[in-house]
Amino acid sequence: MLPAEEAQMVSEHILKHGIDLRLESEISEILDDGNGSVSGVVTKSGEHIKCNFVGLTVGVSPNIQFLKESGIEINRGILVDEFLRTNIPDVFAIGDCAEIRKPAVGRKPIEAVWYTGRTMGQFVAHTVCGKPTAYDPGLWFNSAKFFDIEYQVYGEILATRPEQTQTFYWQHPELEKSIRIDFKKDTKQVIGFNLMGIRFRQEVCHHWIKNGTTINEVMQNLALANFDPEFYEEYEEQIVNTYNKEYGEQVKHQGKRKLSLVNRLLSKI
Ligand SMILES: Cc1cc2nc3c(=O)[nH]c(=O)nc-3n(C[C@H](O)[C@H](O)[C@H](O)COP(=O)(O)OP(=O)(O)OC[C@H]3O[C@@H](n4cnc5c(N)ncnc54)[C@H](O)[C@@H]3O)c2cc1C
Repeated sequence: MLPAEEAQMVSEHILKHGIDLRLESEISEILDDGNGSVSGVVTKSGEHIKCNFVGLTVGVSPNIQFLKESGIEINRGILVDEFLRTNIPDVFAIGDCAEIRKPAVGRKPIEAVWYTGRTMGQFVAHTVCGKPTAYDPGLWFNSAKFFDIEYQVYGEILATRPEQTQTFYWQHPELEKSIRIDFKKDTKQVIGFNLMGIRFRQEVCHHWIKNGTTINEVMQNLALANFDPEFYEEYEEQIVNTYNKEYGEQVKHQGKRKLSLVNRLLSKI
C-alpha cells in the first residue's frame, strides 16, 4: 500500500519492536493440537511455525446481517445513493457500514476509515436538516500510527506511481521521519503528501492540492504546513535543500513557521 521507501521504514520499525515480520508469506494451514486448540501454522512455502494463538486481520466486513430481512438493500455494506440514502425513505447509512452505489472516480464503495465516516456525517446532517446535499468525499485523507511512527496521507500517493507523476522524497538520515510530495510532471502541481513521523496541517495541504499549487511554491512555504508540537525539531531547511539539489532549483524557503502566516492562509481557505 505504501511506496517502497516508507514501506521499508515501517517494516524495519515493526521488526525493531520484536515482531517477526514475514513479507510475501501466506498461511496455508492452521494446525490442531488434538484438543481443539491451535498448535501452529504452516505457510505456503511449507514452513511450520509453532504457536498457541492465531489472529487474522484480513480487511473489514460490515456487520449487517441483522438487516437481511429488513427490506433495506444490502450488498457487502448497506447500499446508499449519493445522498447516503438507503432504498427505504428516511433511512440513511454512513461510515464503515455504508456502501456507495456509485462511488466517485478513484474511490472505493466502502471506505472503512474514520475521516470518511466523519465527512459522511457532515453531509448527511445537511440532508436530514432539510438541505439535501450530495456526498462529496473530497480529497483522500488518512492518518494512522505504526507503533511510534505517525503517518498521514493527503491526496493521491500511489504505491506504484503513474507515468505522469513525479515524486520528491526526503528521509531523515537517522530518525524514522520522511516526507513525500507527488506532483504532476507537466504542470508541477502538487497532488499528494505522505508524511511519516512529521505532522502537516490538513487545511494547508488540502488548500495546496485543491488550488493546484506548484511544488516550488509549496517548498517555499513548507514551514506553513508543519504541525509538529512546539519545541520539535524542524527540518524544512534540509528538505528544501534536498529538493533544490535533486531538481536543480533555487527555492528559498520562508524560514521558521510563523503562526500569523498560517492564520492568514487558514483564514483564506
Ligand atoms: C484496529 C483498528 C484500527 C483502525 N485504525 C484506523 C486508522 O488508523 N485510521 C482511520 O482512519 N481509521 C482506522 N480504523 C477505522 C475506524 O476506526 C473506522 O472507520 C470508524 O471507527 C468507523 O466509524 P463508524 O461510526 O462507521 O463505525 P464504528 O466506530 O464501528 O461504530 C459502530 C457502532 O455501532 C455499534 N453497533 C453495531 N451493531 C449494532 C446493533 N445491531 N445495534 C446497535 N449498535 C450496534 C457498534 O458497537 C459501534 O459502537 C481502524 C479500525 C480498527 C478496528
